[in-house]
Amino acid sequence: MIEYFYTCPYCWQPVSILVDGALDRFEGIEDCEVCCNPIEFRILLVGGEVVSFSAVKA
Ligand SMILES: [Zn+2]
Repeated sequence: MIEYFYTCPYCWQPVSILVDGALDRFEGIEDCEVCCNPIEFRILLVGGEVVSFSAVKA
């Protein structure tokens, strides 16, 4: 698993998400661990590295 750090679009706190490095893309909604608001993720991976990352208000 890859731990990727980003800034929450609601509370602007630094938070992280765990992404399965075996995937080539991840899309989904998860709650911020700080403010519990829903965040929509769009993540692209190549060879276990995050090459594109988007976290927006869901
Ligand atoms: Zn938050």
